[in-house]
Order: sequence, then C-alpha cells, then structure tokens
Amino acid sequence: MIRVGINGYGVIGSRLADAILLQKDMTLVGVSKVHADYVARHAKSKGIKLYAAGNRDEFTKKGIPVSGALEDLLANIDVMVDCTPEGNGAKNKSLYEKYGCKAVWQGGEEHDVAGLSFNAYANYDSARKAEFLRVVSCNTTALIRTLYPLHSSFGIKEARAVLIRRAADPSETKKGPINALEPDENIPSHHGPDVQTVMPEIKIRTVAVKASTTLMHLHYIEVELDKKTGKEDVLNVWKKHRRIAMFSFSDGVRGTAQIMDYARHMGRNRGDMYETAVWDNLSISGNTLSYFQAVHQEADVIPENVDAIRAMLSPETSARDSIYLTDTSLRIGIEGTI
Ligand code: NAD
Repeated sequence: MIRVGINGYGVIGSRLADAILLQKDMTLVGVSKVHADYVARHAKSKGIKLYAAGNRDEFTKKGIPVSGALEDLLANIDVMVDCTPEGNGAKNKSLYEKYGCKAVWQGGEEHDVAGLSFNAYANYDSARKAEFLRVVSCNTTALIRTLYPLHSSFGIKEARAVLIRRAADPSETKKGPINALEPDENIPSHHGPDVQTVMPEIKIRTVAVKASTTLMHLHYIEVELDKKTGKEDVLNVWKKHRRIAMFSFSDGVRGTAQIMDYARHMGRNRGDMYETAVWDNLSISGNTLSYFQAVHQEADVIPENVDAIRAMLSPETSARDSIYLTDTSLRIGIEGTI
C-alpha cells in the first residue's frame, strides 16, 4: 500500500482525499489542516485523520481531535500531496526533503518546484520513480487532454486558445469580478507555456479572460494540424480517451450549466465532472480544427494526482493500468454519453 498524506484540505485536497480512499493500492494516512472549521469537522466525521498544520490549540478548543502535527504526518507517509494555496506549496519543499518523502504539487506552483510537470496521458512514464512532481493546473490539464491525442494521431503545427475562466470557486466570496469580464493583461497568457512544460514539442498561444461565474472554464481552441483530417477521425481519436467526454448542442447541452447538471444526474461525489467536456460540433477548414471545451476546475486534476502518485511509487503499474484503475474508481467514462 502506498501511504499518502495530503497537506491542505481545501477544494483540491478534500476531493483528492476522497479519491485516495477509493484506491485499493493506497492508504490515506491523514490530512493536514490549518483551521478547525466546518470542513475539518466533516473530514473527522468521515473518519479521516487530521493533523494540525498550525495552532493545535484551535482544534482542541473546538473539540475536534487531531492525530498530531504536520511533522507527525510526514514521518509516516511515502508521498505528500501538497494542496496548500497557490504560491505557498514551494515553501514546504525543504520540509518534505527533511522527512525524506516524495511530494506532488499543484498547478498553482511554478514548474521549477519539481522540475517535472505531469499529465497522465502525455508523460506518465517520465514521472516514474520521480521524487518530486507537479500536476499542471486545471486549465492546462484540460488543454493537454484534448491536444495530446490530436498531436499523437495527426500532428499539431500550432494551437491557439481563448480561455474564459471562472472568477472564483463556489465556496470563495473574496475573489471577483462579480459583475464584469476581465481580460488577462498578459498576451499571450501563461497557459501556453504551461502546456509546454509537459509537451515542449508543440507551438501554442493562449489568451485568457475572467468571467463572473464560479463553475467551469470554457475554452475555444483552434488547432492547425499537420495533415488534413475529417471530423469523424478526430471524434474517434477522442472517444478512445475516457477523460474526454463528448456533449451535443442537439441534446440540450447549451453551456456549462447543463454539463454540471449532468454530473449531478450521474450522482458524482460533490457533483464533480472529472472529464474535459467537449462539444461535438467541431469545425474543420483546411487543416484547421476548431472546437469548444469546458473544464470543471475543482475536479479535473483529481485523477491526474492519483496517477502521479502511482507513477512515482508503483513501478509495476503501467500508465494504461493506472489510468484504468483511477477511472474505474471514480466512474469516469462508464455512463451515459460519456
Ligand atoms: P484552497 O484555498 O481551496 O485550499 C487550500 C487549503 O490549504 C485550505 O484548506 C487552507 O486552509 C490550507 N492552508 C493554507 N495555508 C496552509 C499551510 N501553510 N499549510 C497547510 N495548509 C494550508 O486551495 P485550492 O483551490 O484547493 O488550491 C490548491 C492548489 O491547487 C493550488 O496550487 C491551486 O492553484 C491548485 N488548483 C486549484 C484549482 C481550483 O480550481 N481550485 C484547480 C486546479 C489546481
């Protein structure tokens, strides 16, 4: 059993904890948390062991027992998945090194934190036995999910994407905008270079806009392929990848609201949509393919984190087997149109 710890139990950490509990080859030793709040209380009610990342007294005062401090968790695990807020995780590297445990960071950290950025489809094998790994962000994960199969099958000359990003996660009330659209001042945005941390061989340019919504990012993508290709060929390649889910306007899927509704109909944990959702009304003109896709930012990196752990610690498991185990445990790609 791979002994897993999670540092930071927020949007990503809490979802990952539930996913780890479903893996037959992993055990969740515990999660570390700063505040003794309703989320800590709920974790405890599920039997998850809590470790105090900050002041332990806060937990004692509120009657939420903890199993120790963050250091006690570090002493008993093979790998720590750092899910602390964006920009904070790199500060923990020396601590993980001190305790000799492997570590996985999230996309809010720079590539340099681990020197190796990860996506299960694109570079599982290069992560084998790695000490440190970074799972790329929700947007970058979604871009790679659809671009990697295109590149493998048809070759990509150049990709361009417009990313319309959710302003805040549903539980956040301090971020915005709440009634505006905000273009990213950086043209191109950082997302293209982030894709290149995993797929350095492709040329990609992105721009981003923040929109007043809390669920899902929407991408418009144009890809110049190396060879002329038909719509059916593209759809057939994507359909082989369970982490891509196809949706149709003709089925009433007009936008992100229906995709999130679909995830709730499926009875997914927290109503999560792990797959990158792609509309099947592709357009092909010459060698240029155009499509829309949407990504549930709270959920799509969860299967990638599970695979990252196996890549680092389970030498006998192939990429294909790991992805299958993860997808089956999370019910990815086994129902309905998906
Ligand atoms: P979050 O704010 O929801 O959760 C972070 C948790 O860490 C909170 O519970 C917070 O109390 C705790 N924390 C704060 N400081 C800490 C510390 N010093 N030690 C331990 N815990 C601490 O953040 P999140 O959205 O889950 O993001 C985590 C990482 O995942 C970031 O790198 C982010 O960029 C990345 N990510 C986020 C999303 C998303 O849409 N939320 C998607 C993909 C990747």
